[in-house]
Amino acid sequence: MERLNIAIDGPAGAGKSTISKAVAQELGILYLDTGAMYRALALKAIRLGIDPNDASRVVPMLPGTSVSVRSEGGVQRTLLDGEDVSGEIRTQQIAKGASDIGVIPEVRVKLAECQREIAKNADVVMEGREIGSYVIPQTPYKFYVTASSDERAARRLRELHAKGLELDKTHGQMKAEIEARDHTDSHRATAPLIRVPDAVYVDTTDMSLDEAVNFVLARIRRKS
Ligand code: C5P
Repeated sequence: MERLNIAIDGPAGAGKSTISKAVAQELGILYLDTGAMYRALALKAIRLGIDPNDASRVVPMLPGTSVSVRSEGGVQRTLLDGEDVSGEIRTQQIAKGASDIGVIPEVRVKLAECQREIAKNADVVMEGREIGSYVIPQTPYKFYVTASSDERAARRLRELHAKGLELDKTHGQMKAEIEARDHTDSHRATAPLIRVPDAVYVDTTDMSLDEAVNFVLARIRRKS
């Protein structure tokens, strides 16, 4: 049976997660946050005192490491070696570590294999950076969601502050971090963040999230 696989890519803070979750819920299918998998690997490295940039130490860590996901009432739980790390991976330190570790080709191959397996077995909205270009390029449902870096920094800061995290961080600092992450993500050699020509471009700078969700849903329905 042909699976419904939807790829939603774009830079940090563009609204991808909110849109992906809402679309998955509306269609009654699985939601997969692939960033959480990179974050989990970064957490393991950091716990072991390994610099996520250091491929010579990260690569040997991979065979003995399992990253898996489970859906609980539509909410993704991320497991690292069987331990639920869903909360612990949500810091900016881990976000930066995820971006660094994701540069290592062996890391990308391992996680992409796992993501392809999920896509083969389930209807899924998969959110990431290179889902439409590298993980499931055969899918006809591809979206590239973005917004200005000013707006993305403002959104990220609001999200973190609402959780009581990173309270002393300024808008300028957050914007600089986001832009640094964009740079790492779009300049890595293996599967960089790119906008593939067949992806539908969604600029959410001046859109409400409801508008963005409805726009994506309408494009999916038009094709199916
Ligand atoms: O989306 P999120 O902010 O959780 O992603 C954290 C980092 O993980 C990103 O900045 C990116 O470098 C990396 N990542 C990736 N490929 C993905 C998802 C995330 O390289 N598919």
